[in-house]
Amino acid sequence: MSDDFSKQVRELEWRVTQLTHDLIHDPLTGLKTRAYFEEQFGVYLANLQATEGGTQRRENFGYKNLSIAFFDIDFFKKVNDTHGHDIGDLVLQKVAETIKMSLRGEDTVSRFGGEEMVAGLLGADEEAAAAKADEIRQKVENLVFDNPSALKVSVSAGIATFNDSLSLKDLIKQADQALYQAKQTGRNKVVRYSELKS
Ligand code: GH3
Ligand code: MG
Ligand code: MG
Repeated sequence: MSDDFSKQVRELEWRVTQLTHDLIHDPLTGLKTRAYFEEQFGVYLANLQATEGGTQRRENFGYKNLSIAFFDIDFFKKVNDTHGHDIGDLVLQKVAETIKMSLRGEDTVSRFGGEEMVAGLLGADEEAAAAKADEIRQKVENLVFDNPSALKVSVSAGIATFNDSLSLKDLIKQADQALYQAKQTGRNKVVRYSELKS
């Protein structure tokens, strides 16, 4: 191979790497896209369910549990209206980073929609997921902004946990219902789906 040709191949490989990265990441926050998240956690969930309750294969997969934490920034519209869209973007980036930095390497957090972020927590039961979400909630509450320095932000979160008959879509819907309850009952809090009255 000529040096020129090798160089072109390397450049092309680098370009493919960049394009693949862009395809699965949200440009503003750097979080995974919703499509990527749904595909990845759909596979994880199917893996857990393929066990039919048998612990053998579940242990082989390495995880016995999986939870979803659905985050939404509180009164985000007001942040935009009061401080402008650029500050809103900055808040979104900081909250996204706070969530990402609080998770383990095998967990994934995606930007699901505007200011909604959905995290998939591998191996976490409801208790562990709620504790993790509450840790994140407290970190967000304590975020400090340079400008405007008085800016305070909070998030609410809803938690739902794997069971044998739920699809990923169902699980995310349950987490969203729990989130709705968190919003209805004061915001800046974490609610578990199991706490909801049916
Ligand atoms: P709640 O506490 O009930 O969640 O109220 P909220 O104001 O956060 O909720 P709402 O859904 O009314 O507002 C979401 C806002 O998020 C509206 C939209 O302008 C803003 N938003 C969505 N995507 C972006 C973005 O990328 N950047 C900025 N700056 N704002 C965004
Ligand atoms: Mg909101
Ligand atoms: Mg919202």
